[in-house]
Amino acid sequence: MHEFSIAQNIVEILTQAVEDNRLVNIELITVEAGELRQIVPESLKMAFDALKTEKGSPPAIRNCRLNLAIIPQAVSCSDCGCNFYPEDLCYICPDCGSINTEVKEGNKLIIKSIKGETD
Ligand SMILES: [Zn+2]
Repeated sequence: MHEFSIAQNIVEILTQAVEDNRLVNIELITVEAGELRQIVPESLKMAFDALKTEKGSPPAIRNCRLNLAIIPQAVSCSDCGCNFYPEDLCYICPDCGSINTEVKEGNKLIIKSIKGETD
């Protein structure tokens, strides 16, 4: 279950943010996950909720909610330049039939924003 290690990463990032910015309460963290990461939102939220209230976690993150946005994969054709959104892992350009394509979006995992209060 890779959601657990992702949740651990998020908690680490939040802990660092608390220390760096002297936050007393973090309300919300927004994470954008590419579709190709195949994250199960419920699993990630469950793991995050369990980890944020663990003993070692800073009190400032205990009420933090996790907002997860799934970004659909987007592929661009290197031959004709068109962009398309494949349903599966079939990356053949629908316009010109080329297989010379590149995944542009959908494999990243980024922290979009952290909303918190300072002292
Ligand atoms: Zn094309």
